[in-house]
Amino acid sequence: MRILASLLLVFVSLSAHAEGFISRLLHHPVQGGVAVVPLITAHAPKVRFNNKPVLVINEDNKRWIAIVGIPLTAKAGQHSLEVDGKKVSFQVEHKNYTEQRITLKNKQYVNPDNSNQARIEREFAQQMKAYDTFSPRQPSNLYFDMPVNARLSSPFGLRRFFNGEERAPHSGLDLAAPHGTAVKAPAAGKVILTGNLFFNGNTVFVDHGQGLISMFCHLSQINVKVGDEIPRQGVLGKVGATGRATGPHLHWNVSLNAVRVDPAIFIGKFQR
Ligand code: ZN
Repeated sequence: MRILASLLLVFVSLSAHAEGFISRLLHHPVQGGVAVVPLITAHAPKVRFNNKPVLVINEDNKRWIAIVGIPLTAKAGQHSLEVDGKKVSFQVEHKNYTEQRITLKNKQYVNPDNSNQARIEREFAQQMKAYDTFSPRQPSNLYFDMPVNARLSSPFGLRRFFNGEERAPHSGLDLAAPHGTAVKAPAAGKVILTGNLFFNGNTVFVDHGQGLISMFCHLSQINVKVGDEIPRQGVLGKVGATGRATGPHLHWNVSLNAVRVDPAIFIGKFQR
């Protein structure tokens, strides 16, 4: 019995040691979080979740891991990936998100008229298409740099009420920086969408590779164009308050397998 117990202990500590830095940084398998799922395979597997391709890396050249974005709307409990056509399960934990109440003077941002509604739908489709991008490149770094050196103001996932009416939850992280502060790419990537959008204002989408996409909003200035390759820490624009914003700040979304997840995870600032 004692031998069995010590063998178990060795096994547990070995499996803990097998986890690399990226797994420890990113594994927060909550609603709106990220699950790192180890894969028992000798070659690069094809992984899908909810029928979307999933980011896969060979961590420390030791083991393959899938890095899965979990929707805010996912039910707590068991979920499964498709790995080379076979099922691999992982658990999702519940997370509570608090409420935020915002008052807007421009009522178009709460209840848009028909012409704005048509524009919103058109822009929504463009953005969903951008989030569906899956390029083969490996992300340059998964521990992201801060896009601006600033205080985290509004966290991801807040349930939001504008003028008392509930709207979509907060899809990203707000960083409160002064107007005109340079916004830098947290990892290298390719610019896949830019524009002046109704809610998001001046916006840039960067594809970091394998479905890992960043979106930067409310910019006062856009310094890049679609097709540009942007290096890690390359300047893509400047902080502003365009679109539905009550003051200058950067709104930053991070998406994995076409699911918006908490950007704080990628800068080591996740809070349970
Ligand atoms: Zn925001």
